[in-house]
Amino acid sequence: MSVEPLRDPPGTMPVGFVSHGAPTLALDMDKGADLARWAADLPTPTAVLVVSAHWEATPIVVGAPQRTRIAHDFHGFPAALYRLDYPAPGAPELAARLARELDARIDPTRGWDHGVWVPLRHMYASAEIPVVQVSLPSQSTPARLFEIGRSIAGLRDEHVLILASGGMVHNLRALTAEDRHAPPSWAIEFESWVREVLLARDWDRLIGFRDGAPSLRQAHPTLEHFLPLLFAAGAAADGPRRIRFPIEGFEFGSLSRLTVQFD
Ligand code: ZN
Repeated sequence: MSVEPLRDPPGTMPVGFVSHGAPTLALDMDKGADLARWAADLPTPTAVLVVSAHWEATPIVVGAPQRTRIAHDFHGFPAALYRLDYPAPGAPELAARLARELDARIDPTRGWDHGVWVPLRHMYASAEIPVVQVSLPSQSTPARLFEIGRSIAGLRDEHVLILASGGMVHNLRALTAEDRHAPPSWAIEFESWVREVLLARDWDRLIGFRDGAPSLRQAHPTLEHFLPLLFAAGAAADGPRRIRFPIEGFEFGSLSRLTVQFD
């Protein structure tokens, strides 16, 4: 994407992948503090562009809700969750540019799903930073997802935070009720593979995860929580100086909290 920088920022914005856990993360101030610390460590973004596991649409759609900003897109959770809001402004100009560059339509009605607003409530609690969401074109090939991410990498020079929101290990049928159980070996095995591939910057292996990642079916019975990582890696692929994991560990047994920062 060729973009005219809005300003002259010092350096490039990191790209993030966040494992957003369960919707109840919105009420969990301990785990939320990890996200707040991470965000405080990043340069302040001019806007946040999120691609979330919870909005799959192929071809890609740009979400720019004009009225109701957020969606409580979950069922059977504590009532307090449904009263939460995240009144951040939209980013209509950025949304329009993305629609042009990605040859996408804009959806003015679709509210941000919990993969967007739950982590952002902790990361940017004041809700002052504009937000735009693009759908996850999950019917695209992994290589195409990677290329879409790469095509918008220029936004990093404008200090737009490109944030992919999913889960590094995500098998809802394998969860335990509490956090104290040790993660099963298949969860550790899959997550370790991802770490290794990312640290090696081996993008071909990442794109070819279906052929190489161990325990893939257990770690991801469906792929929507993993695929946002392809988007993030693409946006970061041209020379990340450093790759780190600002949040680590597992919750509810096998649900990974692994969060990636591509500098
Ligand atoms: Zn999710």
